[in-house]
Amino acid sequence: MSSVLAGARAVTAVAPAKINLHLGVGDLRADGYHDLLTVYRAVDLWEEVTVEVVETGGGDDDVTVTVSGPGAGQVPADRTNLAARAVDLLRDEAGSDARIAIGIRKGVPVAGGMAGGSADAAAALVATDRLLGLGLGRAALEERAARLGSDVPFCVRGGTALGTGRGEKLATLLHARVEQHIVVALADGGLSTPVVFAELDRLRAERAELTRAGRTEALVQALAEPDPSAVARLLANDMEPAALSLMPALRRTLRAGEEAGALRGMVSGSGPTCLFFCSDREHAISVAAELSESGVAREVRMTSGPVGGAHIIDGPGSGPAAVHRAQGK
Ligand code: C5P
Repeated sequence: MSSVLAGARAVTAVAPAKINLHLGVGDLRADGYHDLLTVYRAVDLWEEVTVEVVETGGGDDDVTVTVSGPGAGQVPADRTNLAARAVDLLRDEAGSDARIAIGIRKGVPVAGGMAGGSADAAAALVATDRLLGLGLGRAALEERAARLGSDVPFCVRGGTALGTGRGEKLATLLHARVEQHIVVALADGGLSTPVVFAELDRLRAERAELTRAGRTEALVQALAEPDPSAVARLLANDMEPAALSLMPALRRTLRAGEEAGALRGMVSGSGPTCLFFCSDREHAISVAAELSESGVAREVRMTSGPVGGAHIIDGPGSGPAAVHRAQGK
């Protein structure tokens, strides 16, 4: 049985939201997943997870969850929470019976198509690895991450990456470092990822001509150049028609963002959050202001990317309070 690191009673880690600059969805597989070809990007919205040893001993509630921040009420505060599943996984692996309290501070829209739950799992993995002294490297953490969910490995890694398989197989795009400014429009209510996938299957069965996102080469090349409009032209999301079919009001949001001058509006992943790609920070400020005024979104935020992946900000060995805007761009 491994012991909790001496003095390490609590560790806090953060993990970023993701967007998909390209999201190509293949046909439904026998295992219930879809093959994906995606370009992930980590953006500057963060989930913060603290794992704390509260006492040693077993019992039914040896892992507890508290959630705070916007939308906290919609997040399960029990063992089904993805962060709790991450802690359980590493606790078992360490053979630890430490009783662990998890605190989650939401900074990513809940059920918004930006991987907020996956970011919780990623931050929980990184924090618990340190808390329990497992010393797993990045590759081992990403392997555990893939068991928890398709987007979790990317939330561990961050930056910009090509994702294949069900999204869990990653190849970092090191050259894609030009900063991108994005306005994020939050919708009323959320969309469930499996429901949106199922709606896409249904639409495709009905309309064989529904377009599919093609290759990623041109986008990957454009990401190395300081021309945001070239990138904007190459964005693609196969999930968008399904999200729009389930939530037709998003069409108005997309239109309002483009009328506000965005280079391009797009549904984020499975939605319902909408993203508006801008030329620079000043442009994003002006689009955000106009979009807020139009009243089509529940809330409007600005973000940028790429940023680094999950990392510890407080705990033994982390040094002085770390900066969220991490390395690894
Ligand atoms: O991997 P994760 O647990 O986040 O996926 C949630 C659900 O989304 C899956 O159960 C599946 O219905 C759907 N999904 C999919 N294809 C993927 C990823 C997720 O159909 N590549």
